[in-house]
Amino acid sequence: MTISVEQQQGQSPLESVRRWIDRACELLGYDESTARLLKNPKRSVIVSVPVEMDDGRVEVFTGYRVQYDTIRGPCKGGLRYHPDVSLEEVQALGAWMSLKTAVVDIPFGGGKGGVAVDPARLSSRELERLTRRYASEIFDIIGPEKDIPAPDVGTNAQVMAWFMDTISMKRGYVEPGTVTGKPISLGGSKGREEATGRGLLIVAREAFKRHGRSLEGARVVVQGFGNVGYNTARLLHEEGKAQIVALSDIRGGIYHPEGLVPRQVKEFAAKTGSVVGYPGARVITNDELLEMKCDLLVPAALENQITGQNAARIGAAIIVEGANGPTTPEADAILRERGIFVVPDILGNAGGVCVSYYEWVQDRYGYYWPEQTIKSRLRATMTKAFADVSEMAETLGVTPRLAAYCLGAQRITEVRRLRGLYG
Ligand code: NAD
Repeated sequence: MTISVEQQQGQSPLESVRRWIDRACELLGYDESTARLLKNPKRSVIVSVPVEMDDGRVEVFTGYRVQYDTIRGPCKGGLRYHPDVSLEEVQALGAWMSLKTAVVDIPFGGGKGGVAVDPARLSSRELERLTRRYASEIFDIIGPEKDIPAPDVGTNAQVMAWFMDTISMKRGYVEPGTVTGKPISLGGSKGREEATGRGLLIVAREAFKRHGRSLEGARVVVQGFGNVGYNTARLLHEEGKAQIVALSDIRGGIYHPEGLVPRQVKEFAAKTGSVVGYPGARVITNDELLEMKCDLLVPAALENQITGQNAARIGAAIIVEGANGPTTPEADAILRERGIFVVPDILGNAGGVCVSYYEWVQDRYGYYWPEQTIKSRLRATMTKAFADVSEMAETLGVTPRLAAYCLGAQRITEVRRLRGLYG
């Protein structure tokens, strides 16, 4: 991953999220102690994860679980496997989860976990041993009433299956509600795999409607081609009838002026390991991709991609954030001045946690819903959240990002006031 200027200058994602919380609290007229409570995680756990590698060596990885806020319900948040995972990053991701669950108004707090590891370097058996050991190390603080992980960068349904199995074996009974994003045969929910992409499609439609435009035929650029990037591109193409002109992954990007078919690109990438080299498409860099002229840009890779360095050259009319924290505060100010409409991460990518909530509810009932029920509930939840954020933005005269922070901070603080400081 390239290190952005903000990161080099010490502008970490945690500093960014804290700056936004401060601005939201100032606007809401909250005192410093309220802001302090919102800016500090409730619990941060660091564990060593020793793993026997296939060649007999023992490697020791570092794992984290941050339970950022539990005031509105159990912690909810993904599990990331990436070499750059650090305590600060996991804390920032936990803060975003707490605000996000409040913005979409589901009864969860926020958390995040991760292991500093490159999963591509591990065999499947090594990955399984790593996951089981990590799950054992954080066993005491995990469970459907306490903290419910889900997939994030570098993890998937299989990792969730190993995680759930380890917790279940230690408990002595099957506990499906301990993680979400599981395979459907283990108590996963229909529609969870594509949920973040579907939520993004719903809010992108709302954002276009607000600007008197239609998604149909819109030129779209998507950075990142994993769970979020691929499903977003596929749904925008198949259901939104948009034209996906550029896609990318960590190795680079591809551009086709007449549009790409995401399913076909995915088949190609599954065979070759990357979108780069897709027949008939021009190879571009991730930097070129971000600056491409288009109607909609969806950053769906990692943090700090739109920075003070490139914000003046971003070519999109509308941005919907699929990744968490893709835009730094400096970049956000430049985008605002340039009149680019940004749907922030804590609204744009909330579809995943909404369907995770439906999965948790189904696991607790032991009664599973048809896909159509998931889709219509998600549409209702995301459309309402978009309307709530828009209303807050209009009332306060601020951007959707600041409005979403205000809405999240307000809902968390309201519950904290009722419960008291002890909670
Ligand atoms: P993933 O591991 O499935 O995919 C990540 C993709 O990003 C891969 O295609 C990878 O090659 C690409 N990538 C990595 N570094 C890159 C770089 N520097 N430039 C361009 N591409 C790069 O991860 P994911 O689950 O799709 O998550 C992506 C983002 O969305 C993360 O910020 C994550 O926190 C956020 N998110 C995920 C979910 C979810 O349900 N999975 C929900 C909400 C938010």
